[in-house]
Amino acid sequence: MSTFAPWQQRVYDQAVAAQASGRLAHGLLFCGPAQLGKRAVAERLAQRLLCQQPAAAGEPCGNCRSCHLLAAGTHPDYQFVSFVPNKEGTRLRTEIVIEQIRQVSEKLSLTPQYGGAQVVIIDPAEAVNHAACNALLKTLEEPVPGRYLWLLSAHPARLPATIRSRCQRYEFRLPQAAESLAWLKQLGHSDASAREALEAARGHPGLANEWLGNDGLKLRREVGSDLAKLARGDVGAVETAQRWVGDDNAAVRLRHAADLALADAAGLTDPGRTRSLAAWFDQANRTRDLLRTTVRADLAVTELLLAWHALHGRRAEGGSR
Ligand SMILES: [Zn+2]
Repeated sequence: MSTFAPWQQRVYDQAVAAQASGRLAHGLLFCGPAQLGKRAVAERLAQRLLCQQPAAAGEPCGNCRSCHLLAAGTHPDYQFVSFVPNKEGTRLRTEIVIEQIRQVSEKLSLTPQYGGAQVVIIDPAEAVNHAACNALLKTLEEPVPGRYLWLLSAHPARLPATIRSRCQRYEFRLPQAAESLAWLKQLGHSDASAREALEAARGHPGLANEWLGNDGLKLRREVGSDLAKLARGDVGAVETAQRWVGDDNAAVRLRHAADLALADAAGLTDPGRTRSLAAWFDQANRTRDLLRTTVRADLAVTELLLAWHALHGRRAEGGSR
């Protein structure tokens, strides 16, 4: 069984304490920044409720039929709901739709096949669309003992208040720097690279770990250097855009770019300049969304990079006057 990071363990312990005292609600909302391991905690909690031979402390055994079925993803009393392919099967939908929520309600109305609990996890819950939210609310309003419906969300504010108010809330928080650093080093990263990644990820240990694992920091440095060259006019927007969208990392580059613009803005005292960078930050995020649609990615990114150049060109002119 994998071990939790300290911030995961805190949330897990909190939920276990609620369970031990019979206060664990039917509807739970696990919220907090992406990549802090919300799903792993919810899944372990599900395993805890479904295990047929839990250990003394109530921890799942990992060996019973129920634990095996869960590990294989075929437990009849467990359901994970997320994005499914569209009708044409060409891409994943970007919403969780009403048919999916109807299946959840149906599932929760059945008697558990293994005599224990029934658990449904919806992730990301903020993707449940408007029509499906009403069906979801209905299910949350009619709790049945032993049936659990858990929502995972990095953007809980986007959920209707009626849904939020029906759920017991478990909050994942960014840990203190020392704890994040210790965790990254425990995963085998050097002190220096862990510190650099953590600073770049503004204290987010999950993101820092991802960047350390997939050359993300190198990519980030390259994006930073490209933006500096574009600002000075040393490279063209078109060729840079083609390079940025030339592999699978286009979205990650745009995320780094947006983030670097925000970091630039944070150090400024000129409000007009801060506003321009904030507008560019928004544009970068919109462009990243466009990558998922049919728009030609290189054109959208070229436009963004031209705007970046223009933003800095104006400053250069202003400064020379
Ligand atoms: Zn078990």
